[in-house]
Amino acid sequence: MAEFADFISAHEAALRGGVMLTLLVLFFGLERALPRRRQNIAPSHAAGNLFIGVINAGLVRLIVPGGLVALALWNSGGGLLGLVHAPDWLIFPASLILLDLVLYWHHRLFHEIPFLWRWHGAHHSDRTLNVTSGLRFHPGEALISTAIKAMAVLLIGAPALAVICFEILLNGASLFNHANWRLGRLDGILQKLIVTPDMHRLHHSRLPQESRMNYGFFLSLWDRIFGTYKCRPAQAHEMIELGLAEAENDNFIAALMHPFKR
Ligand SMILES: [Zn+2]
Ligand SMILES: [Zn+2]
Repeated sequence: MAEFADFISAHEAALRGGVMLTLLVLFFGLERALPRRRQNIAPSHAAGNLFIGVINAGLVRLIVPGGLVALALWNSGGGLLGLVHAPDWLIFPASLILLDLVLYWHHRLFHEIPFLWRWHGAHHSDRTLNVTSGLRFHPGEALISTAIKAMAVLLIGAPALAVICFEILLNGASLFNHANWRLGRLDGILQKLIVTPDMHRLHHSRLPQESRMNYGFFLSLWDRIFGTYKCRPAQAHEMIELGLAEAENDNFIAALMHPFKR
């Protein structure tokens, strides 16, 4: 197990990049084979979102060269799980569940605190939700998010392997739940456990009573516990108006400039 963890840690960047690229291609294909909504996405728009993803990956590596994994290795045996002497078999799943809980509140606070919403609004300004929207987070949000995740890793005492798995899970879930992919009845079944494309699309609605629901990233449980779960939008999914009324444009430059608009 320790050798496996060392191997994963040593190849973390390649592993994350490989999984990300595979899922991008897979969901891109599924969006074309089984689209949920009819929408024309300009190649320049998709390329802009992808480029934002590349900027964020580079920026985070520049600020935290070893990534959150290095932090977890340094903090080995510490944090809450170390303090309560949690058994080995429990540490891995407990870390994943607690990190997902942190991400729920992280997302909710980005909506509820005006300073944070300025940055997160760049993500919500996308009018044609698709797999590339899963990478469209303003670099400012990516940096604040890295700081929050770093604190969570230290406080929880998540081991390196759990941190790597969580980051892969998080990236994969973001691509999955932004994909314009029709899952049919499976969407409702999966929603009992995880966040699905239909569940997250509702969160991107222009209606405030819908965009303040469904904050979860992976487990749908947190929205149910904290009273923010909504399974059916007011309009059919094909008709939901996406994006922000105040954002006239949703291109690459508009996304980067979004937090600085009055
Ligand atoms: Zn949001
Ligand atoms: Zn989103």
